Amino acid sequence: MDTNSDIDVLISEVGPRDGLQSIQTVMPTEAKKAWIRAEAEAGLREIEVGSFVPPKLLPQLADTAEIVEFARSLPGLTVAALVPNFKGAENAVRAGAHKITLPLSVSETHSQANLRKTHAQVLDEVRRIVDLLRDLPPERRPAFEGGLSTAFGCTLEGPVPEGKVVALARQLIELGCDEVGLSDTTGYANPAQVRRLIRLVWAEVGKERLTGIHLHNTRGLGLANALAALEEGITTLDSSLGGIGGCPFAPGASGNIVTEDLVFMLDAMGLRTGIDLEKLLAVREIVRNALPDEPLYGFTPDAGLPKGYRRGGWGIAA
Ligand code: ZN
Repeated sequence: MDTNSDIDVLISEVGPRDGLQSIQTVMPTEAKKAWIRAEAEAGLREIEVGSFVPPKLLPQLADTAEIVEFARSLPGLTVAALVPNFKGAENAVRAGAHKITLPLSVSETHSQANLRKTHAQVLDEVRRIVDLLRDLPPERRPAFEGGLSTAFGCTLEGPVPEGKVVALARQLIELGCDEVGLSDTTGYANPAQVRRLIRLVWAEVGKERLTGIHLHNTRGLGLANALAALEEGITTLDSSLGGIGGCPFAPGASGNIVTEDLVFMLDAMGLRTGIDLEKLLAVREIVRNALPDEPLYGFTPDAGLPKGYRRGGWGIAA
């Protein structure tokens, strides 16, 4: 589904997955649908709508299959979902996801703690998923991304060797993933590291195999990291509406980078996202009403748009 030649940056909204999985409150299915519909109407082209994990582990995302089926009805929207394993991929294919991402934690300690799987075991799931996808007719075959999580550091292991990230990227592509993604799961990344790691992975697997990055704002560097990635040539940025999810260890810090602030930055710079900023800001009401006890983050929504704001050319004297 490559209909994005009219935009400069593809924003992939991950709030319904990454945001909701990080909070205890379960958002009602109808509210999720209203949120996703409103964001698609604001111009979002890609939304990660859920994760095919056992409902026992994440009751917040138990309705993912229904949400995928709903989101598929929205015109022009790429419907993405996370899959932790082969079984999840089977369910994602059955529901009709356009894109699936399997996270592979570069820190093996993290992988063991979260998925109870070694690298070898995760790569084995990747192999089985590739086989499953290969047998599907093209119109039912989702794009398959291997997401390199904890790529910029791990809360358990500390520093993560860049050579390890690069080696795993290569393995994922060799096994048959269409793309790899870089994830700053822990909010440890800084702009210099972002630039370096993108270049190292590109040198190993080629530019077309790494186009997206997943950033968190745990230490306030989210937008700086996003800009560094963009300037390197990354074209897809993950973010979440209202930055929901937060971080229990960093009160006041949003989870993912905030979609509204990211769109404001890009739009003000004159980059095309396809997103109507005012419509996007209005989507917050839906999320706020459905999650009245959860904090919503973002500077632009609180401060409002600058007086006389117009997209592109902002700040250029007439
Ligand atoms: Zn994340």
